[in-house]
Amino acid sequence: MVRTVHHHRGIVLTLVAAAGLAVLVTASVDHVSAQDAGRPAGATYAGKAFTFNEVVPGVYHAVGTGALAVGCNASVIVNADDVIVVDTNLSPGAAWALREELKSLTPKPVRYVVNTHWHWDHAHGNQIYGPDVTVIGHEYTRARLAAGDSMKGRSYEMFITTGLPARIADLKAKLAAAPAADKASLASQLAIAETQLAGSKVLVPAPPTLTFTDHLTLVRGGREIRLLYLGRAHTGGDIVVFLPKERLVITGDLLVEGTSYIGDGFTAEWPATLEKLRALDFDTTLPGHGAVFRGKAKIDHFIAYLRDFRRQAEALHTAGVPAEAAAAKMDMRAHATNYPALTTPGVLWHGVARVYEELEGTAR
Ligand SMILES: [Zn+2]
Repeated sequence: MVRTVHHHRGIVLTLVAAAGLAVLVTASVDHVSAQDAGRPAGATYAGKAFTFNEVVPGVYHAVGTGALAVGCNASVIVNADDVIVVDTNLSPGAAWALREELKSLTPKPVRYVVNTHWHWDHAHGNQIYGPDVTVIGHEYTRARLAAGDSMKGRSYEMFITTGLPARIADLKAKLAAAPAADKASLASQLAIAETQLAGSKVLVPAPPTLTFTDHLTLVRGGREIRLLYLGRAHTGGDIVVFLPKERLVITGDLLVEGTSYIGDGFTAEWPATLEKLRALDFDTTLPGHGAVFRGKAKIDHFIAYLRDFRRQAEALHTAGVPAEAAAAKMDMRAHATNYPALTTPGVLWHGVARVYEELEGTAR
C-alpha cells in the first residue's frame, strides 16, 4: 500500500472530523499551509515535536513532546560555525522535524551527525542528511546498519513490524467504542501512530559515512568534542560523546535514566565499560532515554542491576528454563529504590534471551 503525505493528512482530517475536534482541525490546516519542501512521510504533526533543553550554553537535550513519535532523545551541540546532532531518532520524519525545529536555536548548518549505536530508534533518521553532512559512528554500528539489522530482530518486531499495526488496530477499536469525552485523546494517539507507520514505510537505513574503532576527536570553534568507544555494553559498538571542558557526556543507551534495554547487550562486559565511563571527568549526563542527570550514582545503580540480572538469568539457564518462561521468574524488585518502575516481578524476555546467547556463545 502506497502512502503519501497527502493521503496521510486525509486520514488525520477524517479522524478529526469524526471526533469533532476544532483544536486539531486548526492544527492540521496549519500543516497544509506549512512549508512542505522536503517534508518526508511521517513528519505530519501539530505544534512542536521537540523541546530543546539547554544544558550548558550551546548544548541541548532534545526531548520529544509527544506530538510525534521520535523514539530516543537527541542532543544538539551548537559550535562557532556549525551544529552536531547526536542520534537521529526513529524515522526520517522525526529527524526532519528535529532539523527544522533546531532552526529556532541557530541559523548554523548541521555538519556532523553522530550515531551512538545502531538501534532503529537512534539511527533511522540518518537518511534525511545529505552529502554535506558527515554521519559518524563506530565501525560496528556501520556494519549492523549496512547489513539491514536495524529493521529486524526482537525489538523492531515488538515495537514496529507487528507492534505498530497491532497498536493502530487497538486504538481504532477503542476509538470506535469510546464515549465522546475520550475520543479526542484516542484520535490524537491514533494519528501519531499512523504517522509513525507512514514514516517507517519510507525508511532506507543509512549507515555512518565516517567510522572509528577507538576514539575520534572533533575540534569545532573553541569546543573539543571527544567520541569514545569504551567497550561493549548496550550493543557491540556504543560510543559516548564527551565534552571535557563542559564536563558533560552524551551516553546514548549505554547509561540512561532508567534501566537500559538489554536485548542486544553484552552483560558480562557492560559493567567494566561503565567503570571506564566513570573514570571520565564529567558531572552531567544527557541520556538517550529519560531526563538529564548529574553525578555518577546511576553508574553504581545500573552496574548492580546488570550483575543481578545476569546472575538470575544464568541460574535459570543452568536450570534449563527456556528464556520466555525464565523472564517471568526473574525478579528485579530489589532495585526498586533506584528504579521505581520495577514494581512487579518478571522482565522483558529479550534481555534473558540475550544472556542465554552470551552463555551459548552466539551473541554478536
Ligand atoms: Zn538502544
